Amino acid sequence: MFATLSDRLADTFKNLRGKGRLSEADIDATAREIRIALLEADVALPVVKEFVAAVKERARGEEVSGALNPAQQVVKIVHEELVAILGGETRRLRYAKNGPTVIMLAGLQGAGKTTLAAKLALWLKEQGKTPLLVAADLQRPNAVNQLQVNGGRVGVPVFAPEPGNGVGDPVSVARASIEEAKRTLHDVVIVDTAGRLGIDAELMQQAADIRTAVNPDEVLFVVDAMIGQDAVTTAQAFLEGVGYDAVVLTKLDGDARGGAALSIASLTGKPVMFASNGEKMTDFDLFHPDRMASRILD
Ligand code: GDP
Repeated sequence: MFATLSDRLADTFKNLRGKGRLSEADIDATAREIRIALLEADVALPVVKEFVAAVKERARGEEVSGALNPAQQVVKIVHEELVAILGGETRRLRYAKNGPTVIMLAGLQGAGKTTLAAKLALWLKEQGKTPLLVAADLQRPNAVNQLQVNGGRVGVPVFAPEPGNGVGDPVSVARASIEEAKRTLHDVVIVDTAGRLGIDAELMQQAADIRTAVNPDEVLFVVDAMIGQDAVTTAQAFLEGVGYDAVVLTKLDGDARGGAALSIASLTGKPVMFASNGEKMTDFDLFHPDRMASRILD
């Protein structure tokens, strides 16, 4: 997804190779090229501005160290600043001290929530957890069935609406699922919620109501990295309408420019926790800002 950005940055650094010391003009030219590379990759403008200003300031102030030549210094600065906009340290899941850990997923329809729910369940299972998937997406006719199919693929049970569980009412289903998890000793509950194709007040309210009902340990905002600047708009709308603790980027295997998605952590102050990069259930892992920065700068 970030091949063009990688190539552009590599070209920029190539121009600095062999220089003994960076002049003001070198720094300006480099900053300009980095700016263009980031904008072309679709990174949000405020993030680009801040990024370039930080790189410039640090490149100017950098002591000529014995170990690194000026070109290497700039690469190091860009790497560190990339890690910073991607959220810094790897953000790990917080587990509840008592009772089941409740994870709620929110996001637009098609973001990859249902797929992600099963991937996350598998990932947790591989770490010795006993997750329960909860079908609280009652908007899309096929969503419950899809979660059941995906749950079956990863061998994780699905709590779905049926008489007694609150048929037709996602808030009741979600609430009942927590009781069920306690009763059947599941230690993590993953609540899949409904998404619409666009941002919509009713959807936000429903997600907010589910949040209140189940009091999650983590609310994860799931967003398709392929949708460009809409990813940023949606992230901001969900932050105001529902609130969340961390972001999950999906479809990082796509070939669209994914820079907008990479701007979300910086713009919302919420770190990216997981990344999904394919249709297979194992195409999923914790998001490591330093590894992503290294991949971009490789
Ligand atoms: P939901 O509406 O948010 O529940 O989204 P779904 O889980 O149904 O996903 C929508 C589509 O995106 C499905 O066709 C998934 O197979 C696909 N999808 C989900 N995650 C990924 C991913 O990481 N990479 C790719 N290439 N496709 C994905």
